[in-house]
Amino acid sequence: MAHCELCPRRCGVNRAKGQTGYCRAGHEAQIFRYGLHPGEEPPISGTRGSGAIFFSQCTLRCVYCQNYPWSQEGSGETYTVEELTGILSRLYAAGCHNWNLVSPTPWLPMIVEALARARGAGQTLPVVYNTSGFERVETVRALAGMVDIYLTDLRYAGAEAAASGSDAADYVPCAREALQEMWRQAGPLVVDAGGVAVRGVICRLLILPGLAREACASLEWLAEQIGPKIAVSVMAQYTPAYRGKGRSPWNRAITRAEYDAVCLTVERLGLNEGWIQDFGAARDSELAGFNMPPQGKTK
Ligand code: SF4
Repeated sequence: MAHCELCPRRCGVNRAKGQTGYCRAGHEAQIFRYGLHPGEEPPISGTRGSGAIFFSQCTLRCVYCQNYPWSQEGSGETYTVEELTGILSRLYAAGCHNWNLVSPTPWLPMIVEALARARGAGQTLPVVYNTSGFERVETVRALAGMVDIYLTDLRYAGAEAAASGSDAADYVPCAREALQEMWRQAGPLVVDAGGVAVRGVICRLLILPGLAREACASLEWLAEQIGPKIAVSVMAQYTPAYRGKGRSPWNRAITRAEYDAVCLTVERLGLNEGWIQDFGAARDSELAGFNMPPQGKTK
């Protein structure tokens, strides 16, 4: 917190003294919504729902972000570590299958402490680290033993698209190196007798308009560098949002040809673990935070 280098931006700001870096995260955890979330991949949501916590602020600035009110415009309330521990306890008591930390990177110091407190109180659930993939490998290494399930994106395959879409020209090497470390720690997806995830890595590929070739290149990289046992979640739900609405190629949905190209690549590479969203499906997992009723702060 005194010299924040949690993510690849490596701002070096003293957040403990009120300075803010690229993500604008402060010294207390900021959260937009939390609650039981039914819209993740089947082994994450299970039958009772995933205990999702949507953290405010983000280390990326995606032009098409559907979560922009809290990821880029600062909506959300601040919570002390004690209050964050209270949220974990509420989700545990509500019977969720896991603690699903959505965009947690800037808040890791508080999360680590809150998880230790919850576990110290005898509450144990698998921890899902739900990330854009833009991570420092050193930070991911430090999570060994704390995270059970990595739910990570592989959004781009080239610097130009990553810069244009998310203001992160170095996204690809960072995300790929981080994913290799996630795989080293957690490996293939393991589910319990009820089909609910207990451990492993799920890699999400959101097909972006005009960038199906990048998704295919990411799949090639996955097949070569990680292997066919990785669970892949191909997402076809892209909808123009936020600043993307007025900017090509972000201002349109994906085409059937783009969708088919990615599906055929998945098949050709033998990536048989995971899920492919139907073309035209509008699974609203990214909108889950909007759909959750606002909660009062836990005391
Ligand atoms: S977490 Fe935020 S402040 Fe810290 S290095 Fe990343 S962008 Fe900068």
